[in-house]
Amino acid sequence: MLEQPKFKFVCDACGSLTIRIANPERALDTAVVECGRCKMPRGTMAALRDLARRGRDESLEF
Ligand SMILES: [Zn+2]
Repeated sequence: MLEQPKFKFVCDACGSLTIRIANPERALDTAVVECGRCKMPRGTMAALRDLARRGRDESLEF
C-alpha cells in the first residue's frame, strides 16, 4: 500500500507559505504543487486536498 506523502504547509527550504501548481490546467491529484518562492516540491494536489480537509479538525496557528 502506498503511503501518501504529507503536504508541506511550510517550505522546508525557504520557510515560505506560498505555493503554486506546476500545471494548473492539469490540476489532478497527482499534479505537483511547488513552492511559490524557490520551486521546491511541496506535495501533490491529493495531499493538499487532504490537508484542507483535515484543516477543519486541527487548529492551525498563525
Ligand atoms: Zn521554498
